[in-house]
Amino acid sequence: MTQNPAVICLTSLSHSGSTVFSMALACHQNTVSLGEVYQVLREGPEYWLNANDKICSCGQPAAKCDYWGPALRKLIEQKVTSPSTDGYFEQAYHLLLDEFRHLYSPQMQAIDTSKGVKHLKLLADSGNIDTRVVFLIRDVRSYSCSQTRLARSENRKGFKKVKGHHWYQMLRWLIDNKKRESLLSSLALPYTTTGYEPFCFEKESVLADTFAFLDLPSRSSSANLAESKHHVLFGNPMRNCESRKQKVHYDSRWFNETGYLTPAAMFPFVMQYNKAKVYRAHEPINNDVTALFPEFGAHS
Ligand SMILES: [Zn+2]
Repeated sequence: MTQNPAVICLTSLSHSGSTVFSMALACHQNTVSLGEVYQVLREGPEYWLNANDKICSCGQPAAKCDYWGPALRKLIEQKVTSPSTDGYFEQAYHLLLDEFRHLYSPQMQAIDTSKGVKHLKLLADSGNIDTRVVFLIRDVRSYSCSQTRLARSENRKGFKKVKGHHWYQMLRWLIDNKKRESLLSSLALPYTTTGYEPFCFEKESVLADTFAFLDLPSRSSSANLAESKHHVLFGNPMRNCESRKQKVHYDSRWFNETGYLTPAAMFPFVMQYNKAKVYRAHEPINNDVTALFPEFGAHS
């Protein structure tokens, strides 16, 4: 009996913590993150095998990477090389996952952190790739504070100035997350929704729930992000900052900001969705104030 190839897709709006979350998922003994697979495929295998300046997170260019080297050469061998050809992406995904299974033991699972939704539609259509989706949502207050901060620092002109407003970012957040949620439902892919904040503050229990959804056995050790296994050829592997790799650092700047308060009062439905989706399974998030402010913790 041949089992279908399987893949775990981590999906979220951009700037929602997917990089750090994917590294935490890849700390499981049975998972390896392959970064943004769809974006690798979009360039075609020849591009990557010849691009000696594009370095995989393992430290090697694609041609010498233990995973991408043989996987991309397999695409060329099978003449699956041209992204504009009909059926290219589906065939290519298949070959990549076959190669993954060939290289690692059969219980290992690949993590795909591709942006956008094209790969999700394609995987749902393929019908013979077992796909499970983890949908990560960041607290709208944290999201809108960081997005407005970013937009204002970019000094946008004209209509794009709207990006520097909390009301715009909060509505954008709601619309885009709802859109993705209804897409996942309509594709009938098995998915789970996870809040980024519960992950940061109750990491072990959120990860345990996620691994259970993914049918992965209990993790053998507690996650140190530096232990994650990855071949990220395209995407943000957090490779540039050694200290950030050790543990989850939560950007708490929004705790001191108030710009989201008025739109939050004007759009209670945004806050209701936030509460329902981000904190759904983890309410109250944590009554123990020492989890948020370790300096108030035991001094003994
Ligand atoms: Zn690699």
